[in-house]
Amino acid sequence: MAQADIALIGLAVMGQNLILNMNDHGFVVCAFNRTVSKVDDFLANEAKGTKVVGAQSLKEMVSKLKKPRRIILLVKAGQAVDDFIEKLVPLLDTGDIIIDGGNSEYRDTTRRCRNLKAKGILFVGSGVSGGEEGARYGPSLMPGGNKEAWPHIKTIFQAIAAKVGTGEPCCDWVGDEGAGHFVKMVHNGIEYGDMQLICEAYHLMKDVLGMTHEDMAQTFEEWNKTELDSFLIEITANILKFRDTDGKELLPKIRDSAGQKGTGKWTAVSALEYGMPVTLIGEAVFARCLSSLKEERVQASKKLKGPQKAQLAGSKESFLEDIRKALYASKIISYAQGFMLLRQAATEFGWTLNYGGIALMWRGGCIIRSVFLGKIKDAFERNPELQNLLLDDFFKSAVDNCQDSWRRVVSTGVQAGIPMPCFTTALSFYDGYRHEVLPANLIQAQRDYFGAHTYELLAKPGEFIHTNWTGHG
Ligand code: NAP
Repeated sequence: MAQADIALIGLAVMGQNLILNMNDHGFVVCAFNRTVSKVDDFLANEAKGTKVVGAQSLKEMVSKLKKPRRIILLVKAGQAVDDFIEKLVPLLDTGDIIIDGGNSEYRDTTRRCRNLKAKGILFVGSGVSGGEEGARYGPSLMPGGNKEAWPHIKTIFQAIAAKVGTGEPCCDWVGDEGAGHFVKMVHNGIEYGDMQLICEAYHLMKDVLGMTHEDMAQTFEEWNKTELDSFLIEITANILKFRDTDGKELLPKIRDSAGQKGTGKWTAVSALEYGMPVTLIGEAVFARCLSSLKEERVQASKKLKGPQKAQLAGSKESFLEDIRKALYASKIISYAQGFMLLRQAATEFGWTLNYGGIALMWRGGCIIRSVFLGKIKDAFERNPELQNLLLDDFFKSAVDNCQDSWRRVVSTGVQAGIPMPCFTTALSFYDGYRHEVLPANLIQAQRDYFGAHTYELLAKPGEFIHTNWTGHG
């Protein structure tokens, strides 16, 4: 008998938690998994006492669903998604809906969306953020794909998503085809940037100011009451305070070699592909790459000299406030760059993206959740056509208010030999973006000199000229 509101395939941690979340909100979920024994295990343990039902085969699962059928895949991204789609299609009717909630590449989502549309099946690729905890109690959800599916899944999605403010759900329709997964990818890239910025602040506090872990923890706690109020600042304070079983701080014992799963890299690759200067996320990815060359760095540290110890010009307290402002200004640049990439993707793919809505989706439930995202939402609400976040009055004056501090931090850090790839690239971007004239005239002259690539004159845009620079025929 058709009794279930929705089915979910994939009983690993994300899938199980999302099922329990849907159950909490009154939806009847039918659970299925490739290794079918996990269905019974789940029903007998985690889902015991709930309304969740199980299926031993895809056919049985489909038979238990109300129409139009709604099926969420939460399986390993890649081939597993295609395999399940192939098995599901013969069992479904026109208008049924398949949702991929895994971390799929946005181009795969576009391909699946088009293929399934031709078969009458509505496909949705949804970013799901917030990890296990988010999936269980309220993730950030970023659905995109075939919009005809949205009215049929909106109630469930918005019920289970994280809520902010007066109960606004961190979930709305993102856009066509791979838009949801593209937005999730940029979210992950921004997460890389936010994390690296905090690491650079920590490095400066530790090595320029010589602060103890306790003092640093207290500083991050205080910063969390300012414009920087966010999940990542909050957990950083907790990490700095955390003591190992021997009573000593755990953080300094952790090997300084960062891992990555690839979504930050995808964002940087997309930025290069679509010609957008998303420099901060790129530097954040490279910072992880450099950190992972641990053995090589150990060797180099014995041979390569840095500067003499730099002297602080002002007080420690004022430099600490400078670091906070440098972090805030750099973060504004990172988000401005992230939204530039979204805007360019929208142009490339013909998506209509709701930028304020995207900021709201990231406002709660996910790793980059912060008060700051509320300000971004406000900026796009004030002006939905806003070309760049930096041109919004709020952000323009926020950066202006921080820039003296930001420049002091970058110059002091450089003098002290502290690597700050994200603080510095953010400042370079800001200075580049605000310059009416850049030295690219020389690049154009060089290109024309060695390759006859031609150039335009400022006075005659659109007219391409070649000069015989050497006087040789
Ligand atoms: P996962 O380890 O990525 O995937 C495990 C699930 O995929 C199991 O149900 C497994 O079935 C199934 N599976 C693996 N290979 C398969 C194949 N070739 N054919 C069919 N099924 C296959 O689990 P997860 O961590 O819960 O993540 C699920 C999805 O959510 C992934 O795309 C992940 O990237 C994404 N995601 C994860 C997080 C997180 O914090 N973990 C956050 C956001 C998004 P068996 O039990 O039969 O092996």
